[in-house]
Amino acid sequence: MRLLISLYRIVPLFFLLSITVANNQQSITVLGANNNILGKADILKKDQYYLSVNDFGSITGSGFFVNDKTKKIVVYIDGLKIKLSQNIAFIVIDDKIYQMQSKLIKSNDEYYVPIDDFFNILSVHGSNHHSIDYATMSISLNSKIKNTKEISAVNVDLTKEKNRWKLDTIIIDPGHGGKDPGAIGYRGTKEKDITLDVAKRLVKKIERNMNINTILTRDEDIFIRLQDRTKLANSNNGKLFISIHANSAEDRRANGFETYMIGMNKNAAAVRTAARENAVLDLEGGSATKLTDEALIKVTIAQSGFANGSEKFAALVQEEMNKRLQSKDRGVKQAGFYVLAYASMPNVLIELGYLSNPAEEKKLKSSQYKDALATSIYRAIEKYQETLDTD
Ligand SMILES: [Zn+2]
Repeated sequence: MRLLISLYRIVPLFFLLSITVANNQQSITVLGANNNILGKADILKKDQYYLSVNDFGSITGSGFFVNDKTKKIVVYIDGLKIKLSQNIAFIVIDDKIYQMQSKLIKSNDEYYVPIDDFFNILSVHGSNHHSIDYATMSISLNSKIKNTKEISAVNVDLTKEKNRWKLDTIIIDPGHGGKDPGAIGYRGTKEKDITLDVAKRLVKKIERNMNINTILTRDEDIFIRLQDRTKLANSNNGKLFISIHANSAEDRRANGFETYMIGMNKNAAAVRTAARENAVLDLEGGSATKLTDEALIKVTIAQSGFANGSEKFAALVQEEMNKRLQSKDRGVKQAGFYVLAYASMPNVLIELGYLSNPAEEKKLKSSQYKDALATSIYRAIEKYQETLDTD
């Protein structure tokens, strides 16, 4: 009896839903430079109007590409390269990230953007050629829409697009430096010296064995702001960002290696590690603001496109270290590290071990151990590259 009642409840609701969907399916007219009709694009009405990017792309001949596996879309409008992701409110134009109030949604195999958000952001970015008129349900494109010749040029560029993610440049970031020593060991070892030493060994191994360009954020004992490390990584089109650190804890027994990716974590030890690594912001005295929970959520979403790569690489680092080091595998974790927050590429922060543990400090000072650490990271890079080749 109970089951029967439930069924009665479900059936009318189902009808109601299908009617709503049918009513919400409308279209908007897309007008060209001389108000000539270019075509009609599907729209959906929800909290606001949503425009079918599929339709808009094909009507304007803008060039529209979907990767169904990663749920990512690239559309070219006004010569701008616009990247969108399903169920994500962030939009990347060239390399700038903007946030829409609503997310990109998928409905009946088509992707829909919130129209107002989308065109507002385009105009903020400097592409001020579109106007929307809800009275006549039309979008006017007053710009010179790309002619076919230009479109095919854009299409050709997509081979380049694929190559863009090839692992050709790795940014290696030795933590701390200069006036910021980082953690200080039980016997006075400075984190900044260990990180630089391991980073240089890693660079040598990569350059000797792989056809990959490496960039060190510092190669001497100097102070560099956290945001400048990421800026350097982004401006050099890095495809992987590796920040190298050593840990410290009140409890001298704490030991082991762990690899972090950016994300929320309520675990006290992870929060303390991130707080310790972010503390340098106080020395910077610049414009950098601390990561609030809200900012961290935004950053995590903005990095969703790199999360797979970051996680894959982090797991490989732990695996390779576990093979070579007589120390505790503390696993892959997430926390809010400022130095990772604004990297536009897969990124991790490695804690090589605990300088506060006298036995581990002794190991971290030895050339053999530092070499094993560098070899582990190097092997992880090799394996990471293999996974990219087969994707
Ligand atoms: Zn550190």
